[in-house]
Amino acid sequence: KAKTLGRATYHFYDGEMGKQFTRNVRIESRLRQALLHESFELHFQPKVDIMTERCVGMEALLRWNDDELGVVSPVEFIPIAEQTGIILALGEWVFEQAFRHIVEWQEQGICVPPIAINCSAAQLKRADFLPNILALLDKYKIDPSLLEIEVTESILIEDAEGCAELLRQISRLGIKLAIDDFGTGYSSLSYLKDLPFDYIKIDQVFIRDITEDKNHAALTHAIIGLSHNLNLKVIAEGISDVKQLIMLQEFGCDIGQGYLFSKAMGANSMGSDPMIIALNEKDNPN
Ligand code: C2E
Ligand code: MG
Ligand code: MG
Ligand code: MG
Repeated sequence: KAKTLGRATYHFYDGEMGKQFTRNVRIESRLRQALLHESFELHFQPKVDIMTERCVGMEALLRWNDDELGVVSPVEFIPIAEQTGIILALGEWVFEQAFRHIVEWQEQGICVPPIAINCSAAQLKRADFLPNILALLDKYKIDPSLLEIEVTESILIEDAEGCAELLRQISRLGIKLAIDDFGTGYSSLSYLKDLPFDYIKIDQVFIRDITEDKNHAALTHAIIGLSHNLNLKVIAEGISDVKQLIMLQEFGCDIGQGYLFSKAMGANSMGSDPMIIALNEKDNPN
């Protein structure tokens, strides 16, 4: 009997679950190393006005190329960082790094659009979340209107009231708020009317097949209409072809993001990016 059990256990650790577990443990330990050695990078993906295709903002996205693991996607390492608490230190690094880049761009004479930073629920739950942001804004002399924060609906599950109060404080400072990945979670627009969100980002799973799937098209159209009634601007994520763009224009979507316009780029590419150059020309005609 003991022998069969032993074999079963062996098979368990040798199987897919075991491999997944081993990889996750490895990622956790490499994440801690990466924090110490600052081997992360922040990249930036433009958001564009859907009618003019003019850049109206940038989303900061973490990139990690580990010495041992190679490139690991945030889709894989962010959940592990969240489960292990690493997201707190990593999140602070992201804010500080984003602000450093903003100052660098400003020093280079680059016209910087608002920068959106993704924040996990665990970060917002910390009492020092907002004080830390305020301290950094002050340290780098950055106007709060240059900062946007993207959160997913999951933040509202545990402590909706506490969260609402924090969001109101953030909003009063002039920091814009976006609800990310809309349509994949609880997706109730009703609670949005009581919260100070400025933007709703429709998840890319809807946009991906919007021109083939009538239901996704209808849903997207309806979400845009409802959002506008609630005074929210709509951002469509993951626009990758012109047919999707045209459809979203017809639906009255406000802002778009996706490979059709640009992938996320390194901070050093900013000065030479055509979209950013256009921004500068428009703002400084000479
Ligand atoms: P997200 O905030 O919804 O970001 C959008 C994701 O879609 C990004 O993936 C982006 O590269 C990708 N994307 C943009 N346009 C297209 C497109 O046209 N086609 C396709 N297939 N993908 C597109 P990425 O960079 O891998 O990030 C994945 C997720 O990881 C993010 O989803 C966000 O939830 C999380 N994340 C990334 N950086 C951070 C961070 O600094 N802090 C936190 N807490 N989470 C982050
Ligand atoms: Mg986001
Ligand atoms: Mg998203
Ligand atoms: Mg996402």
